[in-house]
Amino acid sequence: MVTTPEPLPRLRLRVSAAAETSLRSGHPWLFADSIRDQNRPGSPGELAVVYDRRNRFLALGLFDPESPIRLRVLEAGKPRKLDAAWWQERLERACALRRPLFDDQTTGFRWLHGENDGWPGLVLDRYADTLVLKLYTLAWLPRLSHLLDLFRAQFRPARIVLRLSRNLQPAALQHFSRSDGDILVGPPLEGPVLFHESGLLFEADVIRGQKTGFFLDQRENRRRIESLARGRRVLNAFSFSGGFSLYAARGGAAAVTDLDISAHALEGARRNFALNQSHPLVSACAHHCVQADAFDWLSQNPSPRFDLVILDPPSLARREAERAGAIRAYQRLAALGIRALAPGGILLACSCSAHVSAPEFFQTIRRAAAQSGRPSLELGTATEPPDHPATFPEAHYLKAIFLHFEPPPPSEGPF
Ligand code: SAH
Repeated sequence: MVTTPEPLPRLRLRVSAAAETSLRSGHPWLFADSIRDQNRPGSPGELAVVYDRRNRFLALGLFDPESPIRLRVLEAGKPRKLDAAWWQERLERACALRRPLFDDQTTGFRWLHGENDGWPGLVLDRYADTLVLKLYTLAWLPRLSHLLDLFRAQFRPARIVLRLSRNLQPAALQHFSRSDGDILVGPPLEGPVLFHESGLLFEADVIRGQKTGFFLDQRENRRRIESLARGRRVLNAFSFSGGFSLYAARGGAAAVTDLDISAHALEGARRNFALNQSHPLVSACAHHCVQADAFDWLSQNPSPRFDLVILDPPSLARREAERAGAIRAYQRLAALGIRALAPGGILLACSCSAHVSAPEFFQTIRRAAAQSGRPSLELGTATEPPDHPATFPEAHYLKAIFLHFEPPPPSEGPF
């Protein structure tokens, strides 16, 4: 006799009082150690419902038994049926936010920014007609074909590439036969993908590159650098593939030096300059590459030779325990950057460490400026760009501060 397996009862969770409060306030994560009661084991990607002490619905989310973030919220407050219309609406909401931001001069940007867009643990970046889907939880892997259907219908991409955060890779291969860099839709890639940002042409290594192949989150700061670069000698420390440098060149910089520890990154920077030679100001700008540790190089090259210094290091605090050390490193780096600035120079200091808050970072750089003994004027600060919205505390990570040393005196007269 053939028996069909009984459908499993809905996965139900009860949680600590603190977690109830956090979920009620709209926080998108439930940690494993806050779970007080679970009716049965769950598998990755199952929908689970959280009830409060009085048995009222609190939240519905994606379960991940492998992650300390055991549940990532999809809906809170009121129960909803996650039917086709629900998914479509969720996707459309994120698209509607981005459409007004970009024209055909910018074909590289983020469509979906995880929890902040209601797609927890999932990032979707666009590079021209290639989409890169990056996952931070196993929970989406059993739902991959549904996601691909949705994204194909919405964006009609030529290609969709899968990227997996490092900690998922073993389980993704073992349980779902998926690897980082898999091409899920479309033809194989012969080389990097080309896309536009603010009219400049860039390449992105979407299969192996850091993040999804490019640091899309620095676009607005790069635009600002373009407006500050005219006639300046620019040092782009931690340059990666020269994103800031191309904007500085188009902004009329006299010369740009890309400084990175990675030869591969600098080769990308050279190719990106080559791609934009049709622009007269880019072709007029001298481009140099230095492969070195930026801390060492700046320490060993003390003469002030630059008029604009950009410091955009990788995250210096990957864990909370590294926070104090990171703050010291940011201060030291800023001091070295300021020392490399000629009178009248401009510093841009950035941090992408979520464990260092914006006020802490800005104070650190202001302290370095004060300790240099040089007068400076703060031109402004910035955080995440609009296609990387941050809707809960842990989502904040990007900080940037612009300082002008020995600024010109304020102009006289009524204007
Ligand atoms: N500003 C870049 C992104 C920087 S990512 C952009 O807008 O695209 C950080 C870069 O720092 C990476 O390219 C990495 O190779 C480089 N890096 C890491 N440690 C370094 C070090 N100690 N010295 C110099 N470069 C370093």
